[in-house]
Amino acid sequence: MSEISCDVIVIGAGPAGEVAAGRLADGGLEVVVVENHLVAGECSYYACMPSKALLRPGDLIDEARRIVRTARSRYDGRLRPELNSGPGGNPFNELECGKFYARAMSSWSLLIASQGLVLDGPAGLIGFKPRWQPEDHRSFYTAAEGWGLFVQKREAESQTSRIDVRHGRLRVRELVVQAPPGAGEMRVDVRAGGRRVRVAASQQGDEVRIRCSDWVAITEGQEIEIRLTW
Ligand SMILES: Cc1cc2nc3c(=O)[nH]c(=O)nc-3n(C[C@H](O)[C@H](O)[C@H](O)COP(=O)(O)OP(=O)(O)OC[C@H]3O[C@@H](n4cnc5c(N)ncnc54)[C@H](O)[C@@H]3O)c2cc1C
Repeated sequence: MSEISCDVIVIGAGPAGEVAAGRLADGGLEVVVVENHLVAGECSYYACMPSKALLRPGDLIDEARRIVRTARSRYDGRLRPELNSGPGGNPFNELECGKFYARAMSSWSLLIASQGLVLDGPAGLIGFKPRWQPEDHRSFYTAAEGWGLFVQKREAESQTSRIDVRHGRLRVRELVVQAPPGAGEMRVDVRAGGRRVRVAASQQGDEVRIRCSDWVAITEGQEIEIRLTW
């Protein structure tokens, strides 16, 4: 077993541990963080962020967009030392999300709700059930190992959903999309990096779950295309 020497051991990488470790390291100490479950703690995985993402996501698009516009208009890059908003008055520390909760940006959960992101990195599950413009949708997503754009177009007898990767990679075993109301029995075709993928699809209500016969990995510049025809 190798030995590590350090000044401080922080047990737990939740918000408290992260901030404590960061401050100690800023102060010049060598810090080791020990986490036995999920780095980022309760807040990111079970508490603050998921709970906000569930707040009335479906039917309040106009109100949600107004909140985003209002919040964004306050974050214009000006320093705000009078608000005790971090060192020097960090203009992007969104105080309504909790001090130093920069990653819990107030509009982030609205993006996720608008695109209807379904994500389980370890299980290789990614899907989109957009609430905002499902017929002509385009939005940014991030996944465990990469990020890119999700684009969906609906036509009279088809729907094409594309997940592209602009950075990193996307490893997928299962995909989820939403069929439009009234679409009949459908054919499902999936291509990844231009190649056809063998899949088994099942439908429950308007949700279409597509299981790939094997893991599919795409990298920067590639895309997964899911085409439903009925
Ligand atoms: C539903 C809900 C909504 C919330 N919403 C908000 C909100 O909107 N804004 C807000 O500011 N707060 C919110 N909170 C509170 C917030 O989640 C907590 O205040 C915050 O997560 C506490 O951080 P922590 O680091 O003290 O603990 P935790 O986040 O619990 O982190 C502790 C970490 O230590 C690890 N650990 C424990 N024992 C060991 C060990 N022996 N060895 C190694 N690692 C160990 C755990 O695995 C965990 O990752 C919410 C809480 C809930 C339940």
